[in-house]
Amino acid sequence: MKFADLHLHTQFSDGTFTPEELVLYAQKSGLACIAVTDHDTVEACVRAAAACAAVRMEFIPGAELTAEHEDIEVHVLGYFLDTENRALLGRIAQFQTVRQQRIYEMVAALNKLGVPLKVEAVFALANCKSPGRPHVARALVKEKLIGSLDEAFERYLKKGRPAWVPKTKMSALESVELIHHAGGLAVMAHPGLNRSDEIIPALVEAGLDGIECFHTKHSTVMSERYLEIAERHHLLVTGGSDCHGFSKNKPLIGTVKLPYEHVERLHAARQNPKSKIRNRK
Ligand SMILES: [Zn+2]
Ligand SMILES: [Zn+2]
Repeated sequence: MKFADLHLHTQFSDGTFTPEELVLYAQKSGLACIAVTDHDTVEACVRAAAACAAVRMEFIPGAELTAEHEDIEVHVLGYFLDTENRALLGRIAQFQTVRQQRIYEMVAALNKLGVPLKVEAVFALANCKSPGRPHVARALVKEKLIGSLDEAFERYLKKGRPAWVPKTKMSALESVELIHHAGGLAVMAHPGLNRSDEIIPALVEAGLDGIECFHTKHSTVMSERYLEIAERHHLLVTGGSDCHGFSKNKPLIGTVKLPYEHVERLHAARQNPKSKIRNRK
């Protein structure tokens, strides 16, 4: 039986693996297909595709866009993206700028609290266009300004803590449109983490193609619930580990194994969007 992991991060966002390392781990985990879904960037895709081709593993270029719908944060995964699509690249470049600006604001807030972190230390460590809170946390640990990543979030970076800075996000509807425009399929990421099932119908209305039913942080009950929701709304089913490398604990790759039949359905939906029943009335 073949399996896939369709939710993976690299060094180009807040993961710790290079694209090549990620593919090596995917191979060790016995996966037949992977998708890279870095936050607000597709930079890793070219190298990941090459590394996959070298070991005859199927690769799906993707991204995880940070969006919101009615003040609820929602992550939208894009699969089979044309990573050279100008509209997509232009828009994510804007969000990368927002992310970089947010690093300055978080560091300024930390400095105000008497934590002498330098913004350069965060950027040097992040070394990518899509820096985020995990990079600030890692820099704090590296500079020995805090004991652990968890502590960094608990004390400073978690929503509502003193160095938390809100993030400007694109609307979920725009993210779906952007993904479609770049030839991709739009999938709602880890709905069990958002606890915002009430927004699913609006996303479906906007053209959402699928829902991530299997995820590291989904219990069996949750997965079953989302499989039901997927069926009700005629949505594709995806799943992935959301592996960030050695970011927190052990790499999660290989812990969520999506049966390959779901990838086949993604291919079918992509080849012939009309074969998928959408509620277009
Ligand atoms: Zn996410
Ligand atoms: Zn993710």
